[in-house]
Amino acid sequence: NYRCRSAFKLIEIDDKYKILKPGYSVIDCGAAPGAWSQVAVQRVNSAGTNSEVPIGFVVGVDLLRLTPLDGAHFLSFSDVTDQSIQTHMQELLPSAQADVILSDMAPNASGFRELDHERLVTICLSVADLAERVLRPGGSLICKYWDGALAHQVQSRLASTFCEVRTVKPKSCRKESAEVYFLARFFKKNLKQIHF
Ligand code: SAM
Repeated sequence: NYRCRSAFKLIEIDDKYKILKPGYSVIDCGAAPGAWSQVAVQRVNSAGTNSEVPIGFVVGVDLLRLTPLDGAHFLSFSDVTDQSIQTHMQELLPSAQADVILSDMAPNASGFRELDHERLVTICLSVADLAERVLRPGGSLICKYWDGALAHQVQSRLASTFCEVRTVKPKSCRKESAEVYFLARFFKKNLKQIHF
């Protein structure tokens, strides 16, 4: 029972690429209503349901109110692009590092396609900032974007910090939608990270 059908997009990507593993720490950006977090909680075992494997950790953040979920730490009414929120998320993480960053964030549709695209690119670049602050070397990132003129900015930013960047379009996305995900893997060792 997932809170939203979007769960199946993450399931599809993770079944193929095996990003989420028991014991991992995950940040879920734009988590409301919480379906991706539900998948993450199951796969990293952050609710401790399976006593045979390590227990992970999930932090979910959204501008909207998040309904509590067993195994997840939720920050409601919080903007991921805000530096102080990013610091707060990092402080919550065990050892201040994440293994995986997920972002299914999208701006509210303005009705102007180019403006929406520009806003989503700004959001994606801020997720790239977050990755540079908190992702452990070797870590992964999944980030939603809409294809368009500026997508290459996000792509090249990710390509400079990850060994592998690919584009994935889950079958469970509506065919006509421009929605795509960047899957960036094998984060390079980062000298910019601040350790608490
Ligand atoms: N993955 C979620 C799930 O499976 O339940 C669905 C996410 S929904 C498509 C996108 C979410 O991103 C919205 O709830 C929106 O409030 C959030 N969002 C957009 N911009 C944000 C920001 N700057 N900071 C935090 N959340 C944001």
